[in-house]
Amino acid sequence: MTASSAHFPHSETATAELAGVSLSYPKGETVLKALDWTLQPGQVVGLLGRNGCGKTTLLETLLGLREPQQGRVQLFGQDVARLDDAARARIGYVPQHSDLFENFTAAQLLAYFRSFYPRWNESRVEGLLSRWDIARDKPIRRLSGGQQQRLSIIRALAHEPDLLVLDEPVASLDPVGRRDFLRELVDQVLDRGTTVVFSTHILSDLERVAFNLAFLSEGRIALQAPLDELLEQVRAFTGTVTELAGLFARLNAQPLKRTQLEAGRERVLARLPAGVSAPQDAQAVNLEDLFAELT
Ligand code: ADP
Repeated sequence: MTASSAHFPHSETATAELAGVSLSYPKGETVLKALDWTLQPGQVVGLLGRNGCGKTTLLETLLGLREPQQGRVQLFGQDVARLDDAARARIGYVPQHSDLFENFTAAQLLAYFRSFYPRWNESRVEGLLSRWDIARDKPIRRLSGGQQQRLSIIRALAHEPDLLVLDEPVASLDPVGRRDFLRELVDQVLDRGTTVVFSTHILSDLERVAFNLAFLSEGRIALQAPLDELLEQVRAFTGTVTELAGLFARLNAQPLKRTQLEAGRERVLARLPAGVSAPQDAQAVNLEDLFAELT
């Protein structure tokens, strides 16, 4: 094993890999703390975390737009600071606040971006403009916030990226349409096996959309797993510290979050290995519980 493969155990196959990444802003607190994170090809990951916990910072770091003080970031097996043009063309990014050229029309904007990419799916662009009801010939400044956000997404999908990064992609959409729109967005890329990561702090965005959830908390990915596995395998246990230590050792359970209760007792959220059934007195948890406890 070479030194670099020891550092990046999955790097031959991973779409993105962050290892030991720490980042603080000047005069600010440390936002990312020795964070490790891997995105495998074709994964659709919802990045969940409270407002201000560092989701945007993490996505910008993943894309090489921010340089961490420590650690390494690779995309498609290349150091993100030295990506070649071919690798760059495989990325689609929708920032939280898109700097769309306000005086351009949608048609002009798309023609401009088209010139940068070797690949461009014009029929998909046309189809999405119609379906998402975006006027081609109006100045972008006269489109609604939601339409501008959709246009920004079309721009990011047009060159058929292998990695699509979306920072709060439905923030400007009304609550009713958010999940359905995200579902459609994910459907748009699923058949190509695109790796998708999108951030949100709204749980209802995730149901039936993100197959994998990553929880960002205190500068690290506290947990990442498929949603159905989490609901199946994570349980809350209550007991004395000694009892629970023995139980977890026996079940090979991984403690995720401990809360001290009175008199040496604790409540522990723990993940059971696949196929191990939970003891009768362990409590099932739902997505809201996971979010509350892990972020
Ligand atoms: P999220 O996307 O989860 O809301 P952010 O990544 O935007 O979180 O922010 C994480 C933390 O870093 C916050 O405390 C925020 O105030 C701070 N922060 C974000 N951007 C900057 C910046 N450019 N300079 C200084 N601090 C920043």
